[in-house]
Amino acid sequence: GLYVRVRNMVKHFSTAKGLFRAVDGVDVDIEPSSIVALLGPSGSGKTTLLRLIAGLEQPTGGNIYFDDTDATNLSVQDRQIGFVFQSYALFNHKTVAENIKFGLEVRKLNIDHDKRVAELLALVQLTGLGDRYPRQLSGGQRQRVALARALASNPRLLLLDEPFGALDAVVRKQLRTGLREIVRSVGVTTIIVTHDQEEAFDLADKVVVFNRGLVEQQGSPTEIIKRPRTPFIMKFVGETNVVPATSLLAKRMRFNTSKTSVMFRPHDIKLFKTVPPESGEGALTTVGANVADKANLGWVVKYTLRFDDDVECELQLSRDQDEREYNLVVGSRVFV
Ligand code: ADP
Ligand code: MG
Repeated sequence: GLYVRVRNMVKHFSTAKGLFRAVDGVDVDIEPSSIVALLGPSGSGKTTLLRLIAGLEQPTGGNIYFDDTDATNLSVQDRQIGFVFQSYALFNHKTVAENIKFGLEVRKLNIDHDKRVAELLALVQLTGLGDRYPRQLSGGQRQRVALARALASNPRLLLLDEPFGALDAVVRKQLRTGLREIVRSVGVTTIIVTHDQEEAFDLADKVVVFNRGLVEQQGSPTEIIKRPRTPFIMKFVGETNVVPATSLLAKRMRFNTSKTSVMFRPHDIKLFKTVPPESGEGALTTVGANVADKANLGWVVKYTLRFDDDVECELQLSRDQDEREYNLVVGSRVFV
């Protein structure tokens, strides 16, 4: 597979309000034959970076390397890339087989087209459906045709932009599994844009989290989930409690805590109904509070706690844990 390196990539658009920094100095390494997910909220620059890598946008600055060659100024054709977009972009007046053949004709490969189409249909598990028209297929099947077409000419790099965005959750999950198996078996380096965390963490070897044209963090799914580097990532990848450090840690901290917050996951906190033992880990980190409010939000329970310094904060706990261990009512005294 191809090794793709993006260096100090910048893309500014001029708009009525002046320059807009869609991509603002991005470094990303995409290892050969790996699957990398570009994850982030809408408008954070994911599609723009994908289009820059594809050669569909000219960078304002920076470089893109394909293995050891500088590909920054290569034409789209010479990059040998396969694309899949959210909207199917199949030709409605062509059959499935003809659509896939179109992917072959983009590059003049000296191979038996019918044989290759049969191989690709088998790869995406659509054998026997070559004569159908797109309208005779389900949404999921159409995206598999789009994938077969993108892979037809053996691209060096496969780019997918929200490929399952228009499909329902069950179909998305099936296609995700299918995609992973297919790109692994082909060995093609793959970049997928998504705003769906579950999709990114489930599919990718590396997740690159975007925020406002910048990369906030890149790493394995485990790294991002277990060791978020910024408050943005912490909030973006799961339920997060934010407590002013003054309330929780003032007694233990030597620095000015007035502007510091402590963030943690619901399962990383324990409440005690009585003062916990003087010794041991619990004693060091325990502060008193009263339950000011409690709301059941499906899988989580949200307590509003008023700490003894009168600061209020919300704490989310898993419902399971709440039922098993706490079941506190409004007015209860707790030790956090
Ligand atoms: P994402 O894919 O993460 O949702 P995009 O890369 O599509 O985000 O867009 C990032 C930002 O750049 C958005 O605010 C978008 O409006 C802006 N943008 C994208 N393309 C253009 C363009 N051709 N001209 C002006 N602004 C653009
Ligand atoms: Mg996009």
